[in-house]
Amino acid sequence: MPLAPNVHDAEPIPEAARAEIDRLLQSGDLFRYNAAADAPVTLLEREFATLMGTRFAVAVSSCSAALFLSLKALDLPRGARVLIPAFTFAAVPSAVIHADCQPVLVEVGANYRIDIDDFAAKLDTGIAAVLISHMRGHTSDMDAILALCAERQIPVIEDAAHSLGTLWHGRRIGTLGAIGCFSFQSYKLVNAGEGGMLVTDDPDLAARAVIMSGAYEHNWKKHDGLLNSFARWQNRLPLYNMRMQNLSAAVIRPQLPEIDRRVRDGRANHDHVAVRLNACPWFDVPPPLPPETRAPDSIQFNLVGFESDAEAVAFQNEAAARGVSVQVFGLSRDNARAFWNWQFIEGPLPDLPGTRAMLMRACDTRLPAKLTRVELDLIADALVAAAEAVKGIETRAYGT
Ligand SMILES: *Cc1c(COP(=O)(O)O)cnc(C)c1O
Repeated sequence: MPLAPNVHDAEPIPEAARAEIDRLLQSGDLFRYNAAADAPVTLLEREFATLMGTRFAVAVSSCSAALFLSLKALDLPRGARVLIPAFTFAAVPSAVIHADCQPVLVEVGANYRIDIDDFAAKLDTGIAAVLISHMRGHTSDMDAILALCAERQIPVIEDAAHSLGTLWHGRRIGTLGAIGCFSFQSYKLVNAGEGGMLVTDDPDLAARAVIMSGAYEHNWKKHDGLLNSFARWQNRLPLYNMRMQNLSAAVIRPQLPEIDRRVRDGRANHDHVAVRLNACPWFDVPPPLPPETRAPDSIQFNLVGFESDAEAVAFQNEAAARGVSVQVFGLSRDNARAFWNWQFIEGPLPDLPGTRAMLMRACDTRLPAKLTRVELDLIADALVAAAEAVKGIETRAYGT
């Protein structure tokens, strides 16, 4: 049997990072507010804002920090109800709790996107803010979400941690709501080990986030275009110290020109495997919504006709035996994306039968941009063979 491709190693960091890191190590100039101007973190913020077409970008230590600071920047009262999708990473409800708010979970459908009927119904239960997590880069119906929130003047934060490069009607995901948040953790499109970014067009939100991220005293003067807003908030906000340091910026900046290629390759890889899986009667890969141009680095698909959890677990095991790691979100123990494992949320576990049913049959496989066609076909072959091994002879009737 051919060796299964390695889907865990990251791409090398571009060579250009090396000289800059050497310079920083030589000078010891690692703190973003040490230099009088143009520190690597400041340059990264400028470049990222230009890339996204937003007025402001604030570099922080993680996307989780960006989500927390977004909620704090909105100045929500203690205990405010924040609507989030029930299918996301545990960091999202965690950020809501960290900001002293109450997460309210909304149903997610079999296509991994927010159930708009449930969203609309829950929006009128005293919701103060909406945090849309584009989980695994799947974009929910942002036209409906933004319209429903605008009618009620409810602010929208976008968790675009896994959506760098995704477009909605040609507009960049992360720039549709009041604030967008991105991650540079190693499993995301741009890899700095850890890191995050917050983008917004609102000078007051930007100034509040900058100060709370740890711009103490007059360090805010090293951020462009916020003079009036900063004057308003000086000494009036707590400092949470969630800054990015210069070494991270040095690793991220040379990756920005790689984004378009990674997005293009990742999408082509995903779509190739999606066609292969959709040709098999045991799989369904939900299509993107019409306004959506995706930027995937992994693939999610539903098991079809797998009546029992035992069959779905057997599929996971058969795929692993063929060298391909697949997680059924709801069937791997303590999975951080299964809402029933978020027991740190106070109160009874909500009843979310739609999301639960999806999680019990939805599979997750990494598919990094660097894979070749041959490697992609090996993965698709292994997945099809694993399903056939579980479902037995029946599948042969389908011919392919
Ligand atoms: C990775 C991820 C996060 C958390 O990002 P960190 O930078 O690790 O804090 C949040 N939301 C989603 C959808 C993610 O994929």
